Amino acid sequence: MADLVNEFSWSVSRQGLFDECRRAYYYNYYGAWGGWDAGAPARIRLLYRLKNLRSLDMWAGSIVHEVIAETLRRYALKPEPVTTADLQARARAKLRAGWTEAVNRDWERAPKKTNLDELYYGNGRTLPPEQTERIRDKVNHCLAAFADSAVLRELLAVNYLNWKPVDKLDTFLVDAIKVWCAVDFAYTGDDGVLHILDWKTGAEREEALQLQLACYAFYAADKWCARRDAIKVCGVFLKEGARVSEYAITPELLAAARDHILAGAGAMRALLVNPAANQAREEDFPFCDSARSCRRCFFREACPHAAELAVDVGATLLQKGAPPALRAP
Ligand code: SF4
Repeated sequence: MADLVNEFSWSVSRQGLFDECRRAYYYNYYGAWGGWDAGAPARIRLLYRLKNLRSLDMWAGSIVHEVIAETLRRYALKPEPVTTADLQARARAKLRAGWTEAVNRDWERAPKKTNLDELYYGNGRTLPPEQTERIRDKVNHCLAAFADSAVLRELLAVNYLNWKPVDKLDTFLVDAIKVWCAVDFAYTGDDGVLHILDWKTGAEREEALQLQLACYAFYAADKWCARRDAIKVCGVFLKEGARVSEYAITPELLAAARDHILAGAGAMRALLVNPAANQAREEDFPFCDSARSCRRCFFREACPHAAELAVDVGATLLQKGAPPALRAP
């Protein structure tokens, strides 16, 4: 197999990390590169492990997304009623499996296995019951809202041949910049309009959602030749009873999104030591000045700034002998 090449690209989440902390961005997209290889240097493997951490809320969100995607895929093959009980049973199995992976530290040999920030930087074995119950309740609540939603009834009423094959990462180009996105669900309605849906398990953040939905519109135009005036994009807020928030795809929104992508990509590339080869040097990516960001940063075990700020890296790391420089005093 040909060697993987770290190509420059842009995504909404990449921009988010760049805006929050340049150094965390470097660790995530450059420092961790190649860390999946058991023969890579220890620091690169550490950064790759940290890059794959997820918070409990991220984990809950990904389980909700997986269960919904699997359920709709199954429905397309064999239309059977979608029930809350079935969705929740599938989620329960995933929560159990993920939790077992995390406490058994399966991520030590396979870094893509579930590794939870709160456990990793905690005691590694347990969390307060109120935290785990909150996550279980959130997943159950979101799936119940999905099963009872008008959105689900609408999309099940559409012939599945009009559903788009989605929910996998894919790319499109904006002025030669490769942009990543993963549409949650899309279908063409009887009116010929392409409906793009984004399941949300958190609160609505208008600006970020607008940018994300604009990316989906670019993607739909590129991949499915959808006319931009025949695309409807919606966020579906599952925690709020599957409330639908629709955003108009206007020429102004698309122009602003395009400018945002190009400006963001330009700022990212400006920090590279060799933009043509997408090569970066750690020292060119400054620490952020937000202690709040550092306290919840996945890279706090590896980042010297976290040690300077005496950010708590947790009991597990101290027990297993993290390098002294990284220990909280
Ligand atoms: S610990 Fe702070 S400075 Fe270091 S990478 Fe994380 S957010 Fe950035």
